[in-house]
Amino acid sequence: MNILFISPEVFPFAKTGGLADVVGALPEAIAKKGHKASTIMPFYQLVKKNGFKPVMFKKNISLRINNREEFFNLLLLKHSGVDVYFIEKNEYYDREFLYGTPQGDYQDNAFRFGFYAKAILASIPYIGRQDVFHCNDWQSGLVPLYIKAHHKDDPLFNNVKVLFTIHNMAYQGLFIKDVVPYLDISWDLFNQAGVEFWDKLSFMKAGIVFSDAISTVSKGYSKEILAPEFGCGLDGLLKNREKDLYGIVNGVDYSVWNPAVDQFITRKFNEKDLKGKIECKKDLAKAFEIKYNAKRPIIAMITRLAEQKGIDLVVNIMKDILKDSDFVILGFGDEKYNNIFKGLAKKYKGKVGVSIKFDNALSHKMEAGADMFLMPSRYEPCGLNQMYSLKYATVPVVRAVGGLDDTIQNFNPATKKGNGFKFKDATNEALLGAIKEAVAVFKNKKLWDELLKNCIACDFSWESSAEQYLKLYKNL
Ligand code: ADP
Repeated sequence: MNILFISPEVFPFAKTGGLADVVGALPEAIAKKGHKASTIMPFYQLVKKNGFKPVMFKKNISLRINNREEFFNLLLLKHSGVDVYFIEKNEYYDREFLYGTPQGDYQDNAFRFGFYAKAILASIPYIGRQDVFHCNDWQSGLVPLYIKAHHKDDPLFNNVKVLFTIHNMAYQGLFIKDVVPYLDISWDLFNQAGVEFWDKLSFMKAGIVFSDAISTVSKGYSKEILAPEFGCGLDGLLKNREKDLYGIVNGVDYSVWNPAVDQFITRKFNEKDLKGKIECKKDLAKAFEIKYNAKRPIIAMITRLAEQKGIDLVVNIMKDILKDSDFVILGFGDEKYNNIFKGLAKKYKGKVGVSIKFDNALSHKMEAGADMFLMPSRYEPCGLNQMYSLKYATVPVVRAVGGLDDTIQNFNPATKKGNGFKFKDATNEALLGAIKEAVAVFKNKKLWDELLKNCIACDFSWESSAEQYLKLYKNL
């Protein structure tokens, strides 16, 4: 099969979150199974900053949008068995950020990602016919719409299938309806059964309505989004499409997230010999100016600073956390929380370490050096760091929701089964309860070592998830 992965971010070229890791690794796993996998993304400034230099594949491709002829360049880079295409249109993508500045989204995102969708379809004559378009998140939502509405009779798109994967229901790509004609969307589609969401244009709805199947990134989340609490207003629509809705858990790229080969950590280690982890913990303590103490666990978080991630709960109980543990956080996002955490670092100097930025190298050091990894998310479509943590013998403490609930089982000191600690309610008390349980086991070295063994033994490699995607593509 020929499968084209459509995603607004792809690791290692440009990343703001988990989506990039997934679309960085899945096509590679699919290609290894003998299929032709390609990805296509905008050519952002960040791709150049990250040191990548794709070559010109086709210059000045033209497309029509809003009754105008527009041009773009198609660039190509061959990477780990995958053809990675970039849409070069500098007025839209040659900017400092991917989607917006810390002050807010770019005002012209409807045009930036509408153009992206059009450009992808205009590239197909040069890239070649595809069997499956695998779209990811709202930024790719207009691709299925344009295929179904504009390319019905085009032999290049005859019988192609579209899968739309939702990595986060809360980000839907909503825009004022004035943009509808500019994006060549017929007003006939602007209704409740089509792309309208409370009088706005919804890119996510376009993706859901016009795709052949929809998937999310864990079984748990695929059930949760059918109810109002996590459906973000689209639960009714998803319920209508329930028979086409799948949940496939994300995998881990163990060539990147693995303490035995990790280039960013001070001392490598593996399941047979964890001594290197002690050096990594010292290194982490140094990086965050924490006083190293083998007997005190370091609890880490790496996260977008958004309320989704439950960081308000962490702030509320910081004083209690610090009674037995130290705390480090790497995050970036909501200005309010950027400042709150900077304040906590000052207040609890030597016990709390805070780094407000996006830093891939530091995130690896944290996975390797921390004793526990905290994810108290309000909702979590899949979550990646809990799975990364397991391999680094860093014990996840998570809220039992979405993909976190699917991948982490509570440790039971009596049976010695389980790979982390879970709590149910999004409350200060429940979170603190789980942390206390974890710390109690940490203090019992023998028990803790049993738990670490269970963690390291978990295997979330892409192998099995890639198989499930392939089965789904074939069924389509
Ligand atoms: P989401 O996609 O909702 O942000 P995930 O847990 O699925 O959450 O994935 C987050 C990914 O982004 C992980 O790989 C995590 O390590 C990374 N990440 C998040 N914030 C930062 C940061 N400030 N610096 C480096 N990496 C980060």
